[in-house]
Amino acid sequence: MSAVATVTEQDPLPSLLLVDDDTMWLMLTGQALRGRGYRVTECDRAEDALALLASERPDLLVTDLLMPGIDGIEFCRRVRRLPNGASLPVLMLTSVDQEEATRRAYEAGASDYCIKTVNWTLLANRIRQLLHLGRLEQSAGAAIAPAAVGAAPAAGFEWQPASRRVRMSPDLFRMLDWPQALPFVSDRALLERVLPADRSRLRRAMTRLLSGGPAPRMAFDVTTCSGRPRRFRIALHQVATNAGGTVEVSGLLIDCGPAASDARIHQLAHHDALTGLPNREWLLERLLQLEPGAQSHCRGLAILDVDRFRHVAEALGREAGNRLLTEVGQRLRRLAAAPLTRCDGLPAQEGRIEAVVHLSGSEFALLLGELGDRDVGLSICKAAVAALREPFLVAGRELFLRASIGVYVAPCATAADDPGSWLGRADLARRAASGAGGDCALAFDATMAEAGFDRMEMERDLRYALKRGELSMHFQPQFAAAERRLVGFEALMRWERQGKMESAARFIPLAEETGLIVPLGEWAIGEACAALAALRAHGAVDCVMSVNLSCQQLRTGRLPAVLAAALVANGVPAASLEVELTESGMMQDPELAVAELGAIRALGAGLAVDDFGTGYSSLAYLTRLPLTTLKIDRSFVQDVHTSARSSAVARAIVALGANLQLRVVAEGVEEEAQREALIELGCDVQQGYFYSRAVPLDQALLIATRHGVACDAASEATA
Ligand code: C2E
Ligand code: CA
Ligand code: CA
Repeated sequence: MSAVATVTEQDPLPSLLLVDDDTMWLMLTGQALRGRGYRVTECDRAEDALALLASERPDLLVTDLLMPGIDGIEFCRRVRRLPNGASLPVLMLTSVDQEEATRRAYEAGASDYCIKTVNWTLLANRIRQLLHLGRLEQSAGAAIAPAAVGAAPAAGFEWQPASRRVRMSPDLFRMLDWPQALPFVSDRALLERVLPADRSRLRRAMTRLLSGGPAPRMAFDVTTCSGRPRRFRIALHQVATNAGGTVEVSGLLIDCGPAASDARIHQLAHHDALTGLPNREWLLERLLQLEPGAQSHCRGLAILDVDRFRHVAEALGREAGNRLLTEVGQRLRRLAAAPLTRCDGLPAQEGRIEAVVHLSGSEFALLLGELGDRDVGLSICKAAVAALREPFLVAGRELFLRASIGVYVAPCATAADDPGSWLGRADLARRAASGAGGDCALAFDATMAEAGFDRMEMERDLRYALKRGELSMHFQPQFAAAERRLVGFEALMRWERQGKMESAARFIPLAEETGLIVPLGEWAIGEACAALAALRAHGAVDCVMSVNLSCQQLRTGRLPAVLAAALVANGVPAASLEVELTESGMMQDPELAVAELGAIRALGAGLAVDDFGTGYSSLAYLTRLPLTTLKIDRSFVQDVHTSARSSAVARAIVALGANLQLRVVAEGVEEEAQREALIELGCDVQQGYFYSRAVPLDQALLIATRHGVACDAASEATA
């Protein structure tokens, strides 16, 4: 129980020191960053900042380049000479994208630079990245060589595969004897430093990583720019999609050359600092060392992931989240030490967990040995799922975790000649277990490999779909049901892939997972506005065009600007555009949603909650959003005419809409009976196959013409 008390203390907020002579900018930025969870100190003179730094060490320094007196460059130089200033991450803000200034900034010791902006989200992102990198370097430095003098033995980098650029930390430039630090180097230039024997291996590993493979943790030999032979290990910590939708891979290069090679390097490279468990690299080496076993025994590899860990971690905070992972590791270790009982209660005759490995984040692996048969492997994994169901006590809270495990049991007496494929198969089974709702263990079978391969291929194709012109927007009309009057369209994305039309339901989730949704979504906004202009030119001036957004687009911070630009470019009024965001999407980051959606609403565009009724938004929160429309989820519409529950939900949403003065739209209306039932409940605006599927623009124009004529005729008749 004593462990509980140690984790209740809150994670201290990261501290920033902002230095700029522009006091207005300081005040606004300070406020914005505080709102994003930082402790901020502002200084409007570099002199004052230097005095402050003599006694305090913030986690990060943000300084303007152009300042009267001591400018950013000189300031940075002086900071580096301070006793605790050498390792302080410094973000330099430049007003113009000047090569020369950034080069000088790097030379003076800046860790990174950023164009000065009032886009706080962008700035906060950069700060977050830099803090993360700084922490990693610090822990790596401390773990490897506590008494290291001069260059740190580990240094961070970020690789942007799309632009083939690598952003390297100043330490990495030094480790590679690069003649001068630069904002970016090309990945080719970096690869050229790797000895040919290792180069293709490294390149293959990185290619595999980009198509969803495991993070390489390999060692390779390089020649530095001054010709010194060194050995580096690569340790990736993140493959992420940045605000612009491009992939960024970040990690560390650990120098294991003669100077730094000692037992601690091995420990660092083979063990995870957080849990103390062996890591992925250890596992890969171990798998390679496995000798073919006895004829009668099988070996297996299981991968375990904690279901929805991200949500748990977000709610708990980083410190407690880490604590929880450590506890999970310990519980698995205890399971490995205990005599195994099969989950059906019978004692296991054979089979044991040989090792518990921490792969990354919430992922663990179990190396299984001496398995009497395949079933024993699965049975051990079921026992692990059951063991993790017992509550955890962290941060004074009782937490219930669920886990998904996939296991690959190799045929008897085989060695793991390709450890990657063992990991890949176990991971496919793990994904299948998560996909089946989690909280279960599944064994690998060949059909899973096909499904995984399909997904990989689809991801590869989707990356090129936009460039190849394979995407298009279709439009599904919405009607005021009672009068069958056309009121608008919803724009839905389609992908013509290998001659076949893919519905958004199939590829949008993948686009979300890979971050491609950001560029695709921005393209969709442009297309929707162009279609709106065409409709209006056709006389359908009262039509509203709805376009779906992903919450990832909110995070880019540039959505209001993208929308405004598309409206202007197509000459359509903002009031004719409506954006749709799912309820669960909004709830992922409510504060961000309130801010960003407020800005969109301020443009004059409408704002709809999609799939309403399926999320968990609180009423209090809903009223804080500047909404205009609620869309009743299709699942309630489906049986609104037959199920008392669904019709009660629909009725409640209609009442809520009336109270908050929102438009209510029912989607997925397929039958006359549903239409009638909804009209009865007071939900008049409807869309669905009953009226029309989503159609290409030319057909949408025809629909508009038909209904425009009908509408005019009706008004003439009543006139
Ligand atoms: P959604 O926004 O809920 O869109 C409604 C989906 O239901 C569409 O599927 C539509 O074709 C389908 N649908 C419409 N009427 C009926 C009906 O009467 N019966 C049935 N069974 N289905 C009906 P679609 O086009 O495959 O889109 C799936 C989801 O993909 C959309 O769900 C939306 O969340 C997302 N999506 C589509 N286009 C975009 C886009 O441009 N950007 C983003 N971020 N998401 C999009
Ligand atoms: Ca929608
Ligand atoms: Ca919907």
